[in-house]
Amino acid sequence: MKEDVFNTVHALSAKQALEALESSSNGLPSTKAEERLKQFGENSIEEQKGRSPWVIFFSQFKTPIVILLVLAAGLSLWFSEWIDAVAIAAVLLINSLIGFFMEFQAHKTMKELKKLVAVKAKVVRDETLKEIDSRKIVPGDIVYVEAGDLVPADGRILEMSQLQVDESPLTGESFPVEKQTGKIDEDNILAERTNMLYRGTFISKGNAYYVVSGTGMHTELGDVASLVESAGQSSTPLEKKLEQFTRKLILVTVGLVALIFLAGILYGQQLVEMVKTSIALAVAAIPEGLPIVATLALAKGMMRLVKHKVIVKKLSSVETLGGTSIICADKTGTLTKNNIEVKEVTGPDETVKKRIVEASILCNTASLNGENGKKSELGDPLEIGLLKYAEHAGADINGTRKAFQKVSEEPFSSETKLMSTQHKTEKGFITYSKGAVEEIVVRCNRIVHHNGITSFSESAKRAWLNEAEQMAAAGLRVIAAAFREDLSQQEKLTIDLVFLGLIGMIDPPREEVFDAIKQCRSAGIAIVMITGDHPATAQAIAAQLKLSEKPAVLSGKQMKPYNELASADKKKWFNTNVFARVSPKQKLDIVKLLQEKGHVVAMTGDGINDAPALKKSDIGVAMGLRGTQVAQEVSDMVLRDDSFSSIVVAIKQGRIIFENIRKFVVFLLSCNLSEIIVVSIAAIFNLHFQMFPLQILFINLITDVLPALALGVSAGEAGIMEKPPRNVDEPIVNKRTWKIIFVFAVIMGAVSIGSVFASHYFIYQGEEWNAERDNNILFFSLIFCQLLHVFNMHSGNSPFFKSDVVSNVYIWLSLVASVTFVLLVYFIPIFRNALSLHEMNASDWLIAIGASLVSLFFMQLLRMLKIVTW
Ligand code: ATP
Repeated sequence: MKEDVFNTVHALSAKQALEALESSSNGLPSTKAEERLKQFGENSIEEQKGRSPWVIFFSQFKTPIVILLVLAAGLSLWFSEWIDAVAIAAVLLINSLIGFFMEFQAHKTMKELKKLVAVKAKVVRDETLKEIDSRKIVPGDIVYVEAGDLVPADGRILEMSQLQVDESPLTGESFPVEKQTGKIDEDNILAERTNMLYRGTFISKGNAYYVVSGTGMHTELGDVASLVESAGQSSTPLEKKLEQFTRKLILVTVGLVALIFLAGILYGQQLVEMVKTSIALAVAAIPEGLPIVATLALAKGMMRLVKHKVIVKKLSSVETLGGTSIICADKTGTLTKNNIEVKEVTGPDETVKKRIVEASILCNTASLNGENGKKSELGDPLEIGLLKYAEHAGADINGTRKAFQKVSEEPFSSETKLMSTQHKTEKGFITYSKGAVEEIVVRCNRIVHHNGITSFSESAKRAWLNEAEQMAAAGLRVIAAAFREDLSQQEKLTIDLVFLGLIGMIDPPREEVFDAIKQCRSAGIAIVMITGDHPATAQAIAAQLKLSEKPAVLSGKQMKPYNELASADKKKWFNTNVFARVSPKQKLDIVKLLQEKGHVVAMTGDGINDAPALKKSDIGVAMGLRGTQVAQEVSDMVLRDDSFSSIVVAIKQGRIIFENIRKFVVFLLSCNLSEIIVVSIAAIFNLHFQMFPLQILFINLITDVLPALALGVSAGEAGIMEKPPRNVDEPIVNKRTWKIIFVFAVIMGAVSIGSVFASHYFIYQGEEWNAERDNNILFFSLIFCQLLHVFNMHSGNSPFFKSDVVSNVYIWLSLVASVTFVLLVYFIPIFRNALSLHEMNASDWLIAIGASLVSLFFMQLLRMLKIVTW
């Protein structure tokens, strides 16, 4: 096969294109497909192209923290503090390695998640239509696509019916493009090649077979992707917030350093000493571990969600999830089982009922039997329900379908809420229609009676609509059926119909949803049901589910377009629990309005037309089983079991993750601040002891990071779903949290400095001050204070010994590891020298440990007395 044919297939006829690509309408044999897969590679876009491991590694050095540390190392060199310089460099390297490793892990996790949502494609191989992983598609494959599908690879259309394609992902043009199968001039530009399908676009109507001419990076999307990727990756809002935060922190540090420098000069301190102190301060101020722990907490959260059958596609969505304040959920399949059973059929007599059975079989694309007569239900659950009803009534489904060959069809769509088919009979043709009652009624001008067909009067129409309303109010899903007989084939299917009767079906609520709704209520999350179904049915189901005491319903007909809404209308929308008979366009309006009100909106969707609303919502939720590929593509989250309760589980996890992040931020910042306080006090009061930069680096990078990591992966507290949603605009550290951090830091700083004086009072009374020993007591006191400080991070909702922190094994492991590190540096001479450590006797140790207990006691007291609350 000549590869230059790939770019010119549009100029060939369908037959020539097949020949040029060495394929045939029977598809490729699997052996040939395998060969081609080796030759052309997988059909995937290499997404992380611009982020090679090296790029990830070097990007670790671009943070302001690192710049400051480099500066500190440079200054140490300048003052011939060799050990310090080397140690800071080592720390830098370790820090970057850890950062690199975490980020690399996060990328890997993302890639694995993407595999879970791998797109399937329908391909003709070995003469049969098979569903395969779309990555295995090769040039020459014949692919079948239909409404709702993503186009998996570029190719030339062979045959099609009513095909329309949304090419906006490629061209930005949002109107669907009509396609055709004829030849096109070779020079025509992409948008004019109407006989081609392009990867990444999606089918909005109809279906087609096409032959693949380009896969993977050799597609138009592949070209665009390589352009976009070089533009770099955007960080999550959380990462951005943390970045801004660190920048502010650095500014504050610079100010502090200047102040203390000045104080030192006034005291007549030596310049070298002052520079050292400044470096120590700079190092102390910066929470080096923060970005690492944040990324890890988010990635770990994503993995935990996978176990709960929820796939989150972006790290940033995990964060938004936790702030969700309203869920807009579909009714059918999300809140209900989508296991539809016919309960009631109303028609005047048996002959009419027989016709309704016939309509149920013929105006229906589902099937109950798979290959070899095995039971395998395929198709729309409503239609499966109808087939079961027909079967129960004793009808022969396959026989009827054979006897009345289908000659044309208007498929069901959420817009028309109707479906019609036309069939050949002995006498001519018969059309069957079924759909929403009001849509069928307006298309009927006659009705069947026991004594024949008469005209359908307005009063009779009203009576039937009333009947339908009553059935719906009992929670039934109601559709109507109609027919028309013609002598010759008619083009228009849905006019002049003869009304047959009503079919009432039940679709029971999913059991797990009741509990999920209760949880939402206690968590302050509002639920809105959005459905295409009848208002009365929707209201009845909402009442069964206890969505609210008396669910307020608004029907699509009563809803004005978004830009015509007066404030009274908006108010009405806000107070509505159930939106019924809504169009996909109105779904978008609902999202817009709720967001305008400040809501963080999670919205479920499954159809092609739901895409805009899914995109617009803060968390677009697609259904893994029922959803179209398009819905899954544009959404932020995919539910593998389609259940509403999974959304609630995801929100809970989102909240836990955010709380975890908040906790370790508070933990790390209060630890850092305590170091700043210690260094500043020692400098300002010209004390005879001071912390050394390396000591602070050791504390920040070793003893602090481990407990922080453990806080980051905590499984969460009881009662997290009993609080209202957090305000997403609020910073991670708000004013109140700053106060808490400050109080904690002051206690730890004061107790650590106090421990030095205590040692003088209790042990070394009357002796000379010993700068080296006092520095060591301070160093170890601070370490132990900070380690125990992790126990102040419990949420306070459960008793201390049962709290999320105490019951988190990772916390205990991190403490053991940290203490081990402390002992290692104390006993191994090279580290001991680097950190300026000396022999500590038993009473020195006792003082340090005692100090940490005192600090823990004070902080717990403040928490118990509710002077400090979360
Ligand atoms: P939800 O939006 O919660 O999924 P829904 O399934 O009722 O609710 P649609 O699928 O848009 O929403 O259906 C709208 C209406 O169209 C239904 O209430 C029903 O009257 C009618 N309908 C649904 N499925 C079919 C079908 N296969 N054939 C004919 N009419 C149908």
